[in-house]
Amino acid sequence: MSTPRKTLLSQADAMTQVRAVYAELEQRPVERQCIRRTQCCQFKLTGETPYLTEGEALVAAAALRALGQTKIAPKSDGNCPILDTQTGLCQIYEDRPFGCRTHFCGAAGGPYKRREVVDLIRRLEDIDTALGGVGPRTLPVAVKESLALGQHKGGVHIKAAPRSRGR
Ligand code: SF4
Repeated sequence: MSTPRKTLLSQADAMTQVRAVYAELEQRPVERQCIRRTQCCQFKLTGETPYLTEGEALVAAAALRALGQTKIAPKSDGNCPILDTQTGLCQIYEDRPFGCRTHFCGAAGGPYKRREVVDLIRRLEDIDTALGGVGPRTLPVAVKESLALGQHKGGVHIKAAPRSRGR
């Protein structure tokens, strides 16, 4: 039998804190402009996959659930499993992970430097720790597991921060 995670933060509080980090990032005076080219969503093409902390995965999974989606599956083209095949757009753009908000393609101004957002990364890592997370995991793994967990747990786990994509 697996040992229950020791959590210091509820899922709801964790998601609130993660969204606060995202909101603060939006206020940073670093010039970038994402025009949703979705180049960074093509993992196979770029050779890079975002890493998510536990809290980020909770936020992404909640956004997918709100769309009625309870599972994600790998795409044969190597694109992000959250990229809509029909529209070619991110299904959860407003709740996209930190790496998707900081790893801009060249046309959008290029990735943030770690030092520009390291304080926010640490906050995400602290949330991950409070949730009993195991550290950053790739987007497909982190979101798939968060969807599978559901929101049945009153307590939550936190701890982790993305590594690739500017972390
Ligand atoms: S979560 Fe959205 S923005 Fe991030 S890689 Fe996937 S489709 Fe692109």
